[in-house]
Amino acid sequence: MRAIFIAVGSELLEKDRLDTNSLYVARKLREKGILMDLKMTVGDDLDNLTWVIKNAYKRAQLVIITGGLGPTEDDLTREGTANALKKELVFQEEIVEQIRSVFEKRGIQMPDINARQAFIIKGAEVLPNSVGTAPGQYIEDKSCNVLLLPGPPREMQPMFDDIFIRKIAPLSNFHIHTRCLKFSGITESETDSRISDLYSKYNNPRTTILASPGIIEVHLLGRSKKSPEENKKTTDSLAEKIKERLAEYFITEKDISFEQYILEELRSNHLTLSTAESCTGGGLGNRITNIPGSSDVFLGGVIAYSNELKMKILGVSKGILEKYGAVSKQTAQQMAQGIREKSHSDIGVAITGIAGPTGATKGKPVGLVCLHLSSLKTEQGSQKIFSGDRQVIKTRSENFCLNLIRKYLKQRKN
Ligand code: ATP
Ligand code: MG
Repeated sequence: MRAIFIAVGSELLEKDRLDTNSLYVARKLREKGILMDLKMTVGDDLDNLTWVIKNAYKRAQLVIITGGLGPTEDDLTREGTANALKKELVFQEEIVEQIRSVFEKRGIQMPDINARQAFIIKGAEVLPNSVGTAPGQYIEDKSCNVLLLPGPPREMQPMFDDIFIRKIAPLSNFHIHTRCLKFSGITESETDSRISDLYSKYNNPRTTILASPGIIEVHLLGRSKKSPEENKKTTDSLAEKIKERLAEYFITEKDISFEQYILEELRSNHLTLSTAESCTGGGLGNRITNIPGSSDVFLGGVIAYSNELKMKILGVSKGILEKYGAVSKQTAQQMAQGIREKSHSDIGVAITGIAGPTGATKGKPVGLVCLHLSSLKTEQGSQKIFSGDRQVIKTRSENFCLNLIRKYLKQRKN
């Protein structure tokens, strides 16, 4: 079954509004084996809207449209759909009454223009709106079903959930099995070149590599009309092969963040952590403290931005700073040792680098970051030159630091 999603609203074509409805819908469809293989965004223009809906309707078995069901002149989804499907719009008095009562409950008189929301495509099922005023509509047709939903996510989601369970999910006869493997310390292209010979042998599952700064996800989507057991078996067999191939970079399959994974690992190893951050400005500490209950593992951290603070609070020596500079392996090491000793944690980590765009010096380019992990048993330093803008370099540095901890914990086990 082919599903096409259409997001309606001129604001979604501007710079500061994102279509998130399609992500919500895609995730739900995917769980039932329905693939959304095309999505589009259209402004509030009747001509464009009609054209897009007409073509989607010809091509798909399910068209989902969100937005443009409001009461104003620029809410044109009803008209566009009626034109595209060559169906009539029928005014339903009882819907006006329902909308009027929503307003009355809020102690407001219904503005006249809201009556426009009572125009329904002939034959459509009217979907009540539990949160706002615009009803949704579901049109079942010979070759293609069309679903119209309001734009605001909090109105769209409960309405979609209801019709999805009742009418859409039963249309799918696919079995789905997914795996999501997370890796760190390897690039996207390296990941692909290491595993492409494995996944290219499989028609099913479908393999997707997703990269974000410092973390790679390999998604496997097994989708089959045959037995669910067979589908699970092939998907799992590829997942295990990929995991084995990239074992040294593997983080987890759990649906948790990198920092949460590290926190859980530290907790189960009864280890405490402290951080000394310079260029990341406390970003790593912030991520860790965003996790409820992190205080039993994370003792604290300092943002030591100036050389003065690096010396005063962390005990970095003046000689080291003068000889090697603030961004150096030696300084990173003393920062990590300093915070570990000051906080009496089991592990101290440090990040110092040049996030850019300014600050580069001879031999020290933008993106140069020195990291260090200090524990009672080991000292591990690393130096990287990260690409990207200031924010990306900061995120990469934080994830690289989490990866140092991951590798340390792994070595400890072996
Ligand atoms: P309303 O009665 O609010 O006018 P509507 O169905 O006409 O409802 P729109 O006017 O298109 O919906 O959108 C209302 C708001 O909902 C927009 O300002 C936007 O913030 C949000 N919205 C619309 N479409 C999307 C989308 N695809 N993803 C996320 N948010 C959206
Ligand atoms: Mg609107």
